[in-house]
Amino acid sequence: IGIRSCYDEGKRCAETLMMDYHRQFNVDIRIVRIFNTYGPNMALNDGRVVSNFIVQALENKDITIYGDGTQTRSFCYVSDLIDGLIKMMENPQHFIGPVNLGNPQETSILDFAKYIISLTNSSSKIIFKELPSDDPVQRKPNIELAKKELNWTPKINAEEGIKNTINYFEKVLNISAEDYIDKFLIAKFNPKAILTGFNHTFGKEKKGTPELIKAYSLNKKFEYHCIEPIKIDGEIVSSTKIRELIRKGDIETANIYLGRSYTIKSKVIGVD
Ligand code: UDP
Repeated sequence: IGIRSCYDEGKRCAETLMMDYHRQFNVDIRIVRIFNTYGPNMALNDGRVVSNFIVQALENKDITIYGDGTQTRSFCYVSDLIDGLIKMMENPQHFIGPVNLGNPQETSILDFAKYIISLTNSSSKIIFKELPSDDPVQRKPNIELAKKELNWTPKINAEEGIKNTINYFEKVLNISAEDYIDKFLIAKFNPKAILTGFNHTFGKEKKGTPELIKAYSLNKKFEYHCIEPIKIDGEIVSSTKIRELIRKGDIETANIYLGRSYTIKSKVIGVD
């Protein structure tokens, strides 16, 4: 039993349960096997190869290839994937799957790294790191079934998809914390509260200060800038209380993680 078996078996187990509920109770289900997907709005720090390479390239940092880079992946642009999911959910024949959704255009990780470097005009160097155990050698979806049953094929080619994604990451890396929160996060998600993920900062540096609504962490010295304390019915409330309210669903939060802790002044380091 390998270290990734919880992942593989977990998925199979979920599929089995879905099928059983379908057979036994007629639950209307669809089973989709999603292959590597990427695009704008990915978290900067989720550790996946697309985000890692693009961020590293944009910052002219070393590009970290795990293993020798001969392993392959096939990347599907997010809008194609969503299009496939919707077709699956809406298909009139009630085809339930399982069906593979992904883009069969395959690339080695080494070629992918070179491609990102060239598209970003980066001076990054490629370095090789240890390959995680059980890292698949190849991943390429066979999408014949999706073509036949759903009349679906991915439409966005690698160049267009990767360029869009690079543009997105460029924007996010260069935007100031204030602009990110006001123009991007609030405009897009309209959350009632945004809590930074750096609670310890507030606790430590200013004892007793409640966690802040609209709080920014601005630089590596953990300075912070507060806009307004969290008040409910005019009372400033503690972070413990806030968490309780969030758990109960009384406060909506945008659960967005931008990652990237401790970057230079005025860049977003994380909103959680
Ligand atoms: N990978 C890499 N460098 C990174 C991140 C990932 O070389 O900084 C490799 C990883 O070992 C894997 C491939 O890129 O072979 C795709 O990794 P990812 O986690 O994006 O997807 P998955 O392994 O789930 O297909």
